[in-house]
Amino acid sequence: MGTGHHADGKPVPQFVLTAAEEGPHERLLMPVLVSGQDDGGAGSGVIVKAGRIGHGKGLPICRTCGVQYEAPRPDCPVCLDERQYVGWEGQQWTTLARLRADGHRGRLDVERPGVIGVGAVPSVAVDQRALLIRSPSGNVLWDCVGYLDDDLAHEVEELGGISAIAVSHPHFYGVMTEWGRAFDAPVYIHEADREWVGRPDPLIKYWAGDTHPIAPGMTLINAGTHFAGGTVLHWADDPEGRGALFSGDIFMVVMDRRWVSFMYSIPDFIPGGTVAAGE
Ligand SMILES: [Zn+2]
Repeated sequence: MGTGHHADGKPVPQFVLTAAEEGPHERLLMPVLVSGQDDGGAGSGVIVKAGRIGHGKGLPICRTCGVQYEAPRPDCPVCLDERQYVGWEGQQWTTLARLRADGHRGRLDVERPGVIGVGAVPSVAVDQRALLIRSPSGNVLWDCVGYLDDDLAHEVEELGGISAIAVSHPHFYGVMTEWGRAFDAPVYIHEADREWVGRPDPLIKYWAGDTHPIAPGMTLINAGTHFAGGTVLHWADDPEGRGALFSGDIFMVVMDRRWVSFMYSIPDFIPGGTVAAGE
């Protein structure tokens, strides 16, 4: 795993996009636009697929991990798990409506050809970043964030919308159900991680086994390690022609760049293992 092959059978390196769960991530290019920046702060009132965004604006979102739940609850299972942590101030909740009122806005950044980073400013939770993969057969949102508003949805719609959403592991679930409903897109989750889904919905599609194609040239791979259902996405037809692997933080390219590392827990330094890139 981790390499593609030329026609002559030689492995070629793929670029690997790792997650931003560790905080500020490297920007490959400057931000191109900030959602809602020019609307005078009151919101444009644009509703994408009117009626689909709404109910979720008031549902509880964990401030530490950004995962949204279908109803109020005293605790966040994702944060109580040994791979995450409860915020030092104790369990705190917010909502999409509160985040918007507090001044958060969507953020889109060109990351590389065909790939746009999706996040929020100021950051939400641990500043997760999703990636909008722009494909002729339909855009795929890889991973998710704990933020969405109508302006951001409108701007993503102008980029071609979203045909499918896939999430690597529970630390990136965010408000994935809201994103799915906003774009009427299926959300692909490996069934081994079903217990972590905070806001179940018929649009969440649980898949099983080692691999699952979600679009032409796009295949989900169950890599496990961090979570049993830990998933990476292989894009065979990326614009740079080398094949791309979207790894979440299921595995990470280390600074040496000849290695990838697996961690059971990143914030709590619980090790997983290390292998040479290309194995
Ligand atoms: Zn949490």
